[in-house]
Amino acid sequence: MELWYTEKQTKNVGITCKVKGTLYSKRSQYQNINVIDTYQFGTMLVLDGAVQTTLVDEYIYHEMITHVPLNTHKNPKNVLVIGGGDGGAIREILKHKSVERAVLVEIDRHVVEASKQFLPQISCALTDSKCQVLIEDGIEYIKNNKGIYDVIIVDSTDPVGPAANLFSKDFYISIYEALKDDGIFVAQTESPFYNQDLIKRVFSDVKEVFPITQLYCAPIPTYPSGYWSFTMGSKKYHPLEVQVGKVANLDTRYYNAQIHKASFILPNFVKTLLKDGKIND
Ligand code: SAM
Repeated sequence: MELWYTEKQTKNVGITCKVKGTLYSKRSQYQNINVIDTYQFGTMLVLDGAVQTTLVDEYIYHEMITHVPLNTHKNPKNVLVIGGGDGGAIREILKHKSVERAVLVEIDRHVVEASKQFLPQISCALTDSKCQVLIEDGIEYIKNNKGIYDVIIVDSTDPVGPAANLFSKDFYISIYEALKDDGIFVAQTESPFYNQDLIKRVFSDVKEVFPITQLYCAPIPTYPSGYWSFTMGSKKYHPLEVQVGKVANLDTRYYNAQIHKASFILPNFVKTLLKDGKIND
């Protein structure tokens, strides 16, 4: 008998994968956690029925959510990830030699444990001596830590349940306060096809908090629509002023100096979401 997993990405559209088997299944305090083995995408982490990461395409998301802000900052030493319990963002952050400390604040310890057990290729850096894993709500953590981070990355689930407030203006204000004077923040901000209202609102909120606000995109095959957005708020450095020749030659499969710049070139339908449409002009 063939087994297929379907994520209903919208009321009318889904992604379906042929499954070899279920490796892990748990109802935690916060969400349903499943790790499944698929033919096309290998091991896949699914939270509340939504694909979070897969062995086959994870590199695009994790490289783009980390290297774009870290290479925009002149000397990132202290980096915070909120969410990101699979560890992929931490793995990429620790490729930067300047980084002295990478803190992961994940609300659900079972996501970290399942990722360590079933996704070692992604979670491998969570045990690095420069990495500290804290199991707590990122919203509370950020309120109590002011002016200490160079880069903050919000690698969250969709804006429902415990992640809902990770997409609020109050949270962006707390992030601003948790950053140093030249700090940078990036959040995953969903699909430009399916989440236009969210992208508009987040961009406008971040713009009210940070002097430099930019949106960039990347293709993520297993995320809804396959086309994903990231919103950056920066206190001082502009991501397009990064000199291509100065981008460190990291061991990456998707990200490079040209992609860094190209990802900020937006199609017209995305530009128009960003209110004044003047982004990148
Ligand atoms: N790359 C993924 C995506 O876009 O689908 C996100 C991956 S990561 C597994 C998301 C994590 O955010 C989950 O493990 C979830 O438990 C965590 N999370 C949700 N709300 C949180 C909060 N308030 N504080 C800290 N972590 C949170």
